[in-house]
Amino acid sequence: MCAVSIVALSAPEIGKFRRRLLAWFSARKRDLPWRRTKDPYRIWLSEIMLQQTRVAAVVPYYESFLRRFPDMQALARARAEVVLSHWAGLGYYSRARNLLRAAREIDARHGGRFPREYDAALALPGIGRYTAAAVLSIAYGKPLAVLDGNVARVLARLGALRGDLRAPALWRKLGATAQYLLARRTPGDWNQAMMELGATLCTPRSPQCLLCPVAEFCEARKQGLADLIPEKRSKRDTIEITLASLVLVDPRGKTLLLAPPKSTRKSAAPDDVHTLVSRMWHFPTVAVQHGQAAAELTRFAQESLFGARKFQMVLGPLKKVRHAVTYRSITVLPFRLEIEKFPKVSGATVLPLADLSAVAISNLTRKVARAALAPK
Ligand code: SF4
Repeated sequence: MCAVSIVALSAPEIGKFRRRLLAWFSARKRDLPWRRTKDPYRIWLSEIMLQQTRVAAVVPYYESFLRRFPDMQALARARAEVVLSHWAGLGYYSRARNLLRAAREIDARHGGRFPREYDAALALPGIGRYTAAAVLSIAYGKPLAVLDGNVARVLARLGALRGDLRAPALWRKLGATAQYLLARRTPGDWNQAMMELGATLCTPRSPQCLLCPVAEFCEARKQGLADLIPEKRSKRDTIEITLASLVLVDPRGKTLLLAPPKSTRKSAAPDDVHTLVSRMWHFPTVAVQHGQAAAELTRFAQESLFGARKFQMVLGPLKKVRHAVTYRSITVLPFRLEIEKFPKVSGATVLPLADLSAVAISNLTRKVARAALAPK
């Protein structure tokens, strides 16, 4: 047995373990669109879309994204606005921005082909160790093991490893174990098999050990610990945030949206409005204290939209909107303001309130628009 591995198997056992898992994967794997290709562009796209997003939600986006951007060149030459609008609804928009930046780099520096070298892949925006290993092993057969939450859970159970798996020392052990167990002749299938096992049978709750192809090698099952591993991490406390949004509406039913910021520097403030609207087009919005929403929104609008054009603002409160972004629980208090003529605001755009599809907006902005369109 290897000194760094947490899974204590002899050499013949490892051979058997690999054969069992690969045979199970070959027979039982889910038929997913990115499993029908070895094209590194398509595999990379699927890996980015699958980050923090369920398979069922990704499939339609993956297919429609590829219809619009069928290859690296098509993506690299697209405008950010268009790429974001095809990502709209999938969430975590920094993924789409990094995808585009990386595609442009690949087009400019790697001849339009996803790089074959690990370090070159890692140097691209939005690509960490997991994604680099996944794309290179699946598309190019490079012997690199992946380690994500699914694989870590499977390995921890196989080795009955206790503790917080994300703690750096344990995560390093898990990475070394994953690399040690890797079937080097079929690394792409192996990595997918480990992930598939974690996603379908060795699930966070109620693992289905009776159906597991590698149950005989699993220490957690033998010790009756499968349900207790991994141990729960302490969750970050939820922060409550209240925003007020202004939906200006003119007699033609048009509204005004503000542009995303040009700077890519992110604010660390939990109530940063640009972060909460995923750095996309949005209604004029400000973080407010509860009970002060109308007054604070009026002040914000007077200062940042209307400038010297002072007038009595009669805000019509709309149905409140709830939204969650990671550890933030957001309440948006939207207000409608009927207006004859929009103020001139640098970078703003005017669109029909009933159809904002010409620009990329976040789910939060979409919910505010729905609240503004709902019958009173
Ligand atoms: Fe996971 Fe159970 Fe299989 Fe162990 S036996 S790897 S706990 S599904």
